[in-house]
Amino acid sequence: MVCSACDTYVSLTAKHCARCDRCVENFDHHCKWLNTCIGKCNYTWFCALLAVTGACQTVQFVFALRLTIRDDRNAQFGVLVVQTVGSGLVILGVSHLILLHCWLKCKGLTTFEWIRARRERKSQVKSASIRREAELKSQALKDKGTFDSFEQSLKLNDTSIVPLTQSLELTREKPASDS
Ligand SMILES: [Zn+2]
Ligand SMILES: [Zn+2]
Repeated sequence: MVCSACDTYVSLTAKHCARCDRCVENFDHHCKWLNTCIGKCNYTWFCALLAVTGACQTVQFVFALRLTIRDDRNAQFGVLVVQTVGSGLVILGVSHLILLHCWLKCKGLTTFEWIRARRERKSQVKSASIRREAELKSQALKDKGTFDSFEQSLKLNDTSIVPLTQSLELTREKPASDS
């Protein structure tokens, strides 16, 4: 397969990254934190980086938390609190990414494929709801049309109904006038 953007021969799993302006084999995603694409060449290193970052931040979190609890009157107390909270947030983010990539590995998907599948599912749901809405609208218009024609026929018959009712009233009034 030839990429239309960079005119190079690539496999079906490759994708052209617009930010890096090159094709990436087994494209996973473009990491904005590392400002590079994650693919066949560096996916293992990316996972290793996540694991190392998670481990380092856990160590930092534990030490910062222990020092914060022990030295609450220390001049560095504010710095320790910021370190504890900061490393805690990084641990949350990194562990979320690690779990996501473990799950994707089990499913045999790349991040790009997973995101694309999600978008397709969302657009399918959206188009189905739009179709349903259009069906409901056309049904409502049909019902209105039936109601209007029914109303129209009633109006047309109105002239024949009035004399009929009048004649009924006349026939009802007749015996009274006889007596
Ligand atoms: Zn390309
Ligand atoms: Zn890229």
